[in-house]
Amino acid sequence: DGPGVKGACPRPVDFTKVDVDLLPTVILVGRPNVGKSALFNRLIRRREALVYNTPDDHVTRDIREGVAKLGDLRFRVLDSAGLEMAASSGSILDRTAGMTANVLARSRFAIFLIDVRDGLHPMDLEVGKWLRRHASGITTILVMNKSESLDDGAGYLMAAAGEAHRLGYGDPIAISAETGLGMAELYEALRPLLEDYMLQVVNDEGSQDNSSCEDEESKLPLQLAIVGRPNVGKSTLLNTLLQEDRVLVGPEAGLTRDSVRAQFQFEGRTIYLVDTAGWLQKTKQEKGPASLSIMQSRKSIMRAHVVALVLDAEEIANARSSMKHAEVVIARRAVEEGRGLVVIVNKMDLLRGKRNSNLYEKVMEAVPEEIQTVIPQVTGIPVVFISALEGRGRIPVMRQVIDTYEKWCLRLSTARLNRWLRKVMSRHSWKNQAAQPKIKYFTQVKARPPTFVAFVTGKAQLSDTDLRFLTKSLKEDFDIGGIPIRIMQRSIL
Ligand code: GDP
Ligand code: GDP
Repeated sequence: DGPGVKGACPRPVDFTKVDVDLLPTVILVGRPNVGKSALFNRLIRRREALVYNTPDDHVTRDIREGVAKLGDLRFRVLDSAGLEMAASSGSILDRTAGMTANVLARSRFAIFLIDVRDGLHPMDLEVGKWLRRHASGITTILVMNKSESLDDGAGYLMAAAGEAHRLGYGDPIAISAETGLGMAELYEALRPLLEDYMLQVVNDEGSQDNSSCEDEESKLPLQLAIVGRPNVGKSTLLNTLLQEDRVLVGPEAGLTRDSVRAQFQFEGRTIYLVDTAGWLQKTKQEKGPASLSIMQSRKSIMRAHVVALVLDAEEIANARSSMKHAEVVIARRAVEEGRGLVVIVNKMDLLRGKRNSNLYEKVMEAVPEEIQTVIPQVTGIPVVFISALEGRGRIPVMRQVIDTYEKWCLRLSTARLNRWLRKVMSRHSWKNQAAQPKIKYFTQVKARPPTFVAFVTGKAQLSDTDLRFLTKSLKEDFDIGGIPIRIMQRSIL
């Protein structure tokens, strides 16, 4: 991580220097065909989108996320199609509630699109109502898309704007996602909102400690992805986890199979299994090569809070290194994306009772060691040894997953962090006493995963060694080992 947000409080915020994780999230909402995808594509340009959608009948069914670039503004943008379904039909709302709540919890702003050519459609009113009900904390900007198709000379645009006012979201901005018309106006509307947000986030001092995932956001179901190469036992584990509790949600007519979700209860908690429902009907032919599992895992990782990477104990015992290339790629990816990672070594039953061998013990030693080697930036990634076939993996796996999740959600108050900082900095040996940077204060700007900003005064910057020291101390003192945490620094005068 480079330096985080630049400048103390003076405007303007330089969005190009803000860590992507700290950027505000803007969600695009509107009934089908108003041009959400078109606007999304224009905003992210050629940048990479995390596309988890399945195009189906030319309508996007799922959520896409990307980093938007609008002049010098940067923000995270979500194109969500589940929402319009929810707005148009109550029955789907229940089924997609988890997803929409999740998406809304992550959004601070919404761009509400209507199609200027259609006038005000009854479904626009529905979307408006729905937004008011479910997104009260979200600041919404109303946008009339496809404006290039109306001749303003004839006053059509003015008339349409007047009508759009009835939605109760103020004056609409006329744009065309297709031609780029009105992007400057959109920029001008967004800029002050996003800037205020950035300044608030960075100055967020009032946050309270919250160590048990009890804030609104964390009441949402834990999203668990089970990933790994073919044949390591993912499906077997999945069945163990679901037991009789198995609940399959969907698919509602018109939704893709991808939206089928497996869900179960563990110790009073609801767990959603990401992308795994299809496996329940899996046939052997569907098992692909390892490269395919990397791609699928990549998608799942983006949707998950906690990633469970399954390894095969027998393969490990027979090989020189415990992790195959694909597994290293998946594990690193999970950590780089800031997900909680739990490694599961399955098929331990095959190593038990092998004559004249201490393979069982060897594997138990080798795996944690190798994980530490391939992911040096996170110490203590949890490893669970199980036999999914014998069906006893459920409790150890789930307890570890939940422990990881709770650490991942941890929120520490600024007051507590600064008491801690004073203590811990007195223990730190600075390399260069003369040019020692001074941390004015330290604050958590985000959970999931815990993300901190150190405000540094003077010319000196914290070195990598200093940042590593802070990370290590945080992990030890607040018992948050085994998950990725992030510390950024920001210079203040
Ligand atoms: P979504 O369902 O809201 O994501 O809508 P899409 O982005 O898929 O757009 C629906 C249709 O409207 C497509 O045929 C687009 O080409 C078209 N469209 C999108 N934006 C514009 C625009 O600004 N002007 C015109 N004329 N058509 C547009
Ligand atoms: P997936 O491709 O990762 O979903 O793997 P499966 O769950 O389909 O399992 C692949 C094979 O490994 C099957 O023949 C399973 O019966 C077997 N298997 C799964 N878990 C275990 C285990 O804990 N012990 C043993 N001995 N075999 C297992």
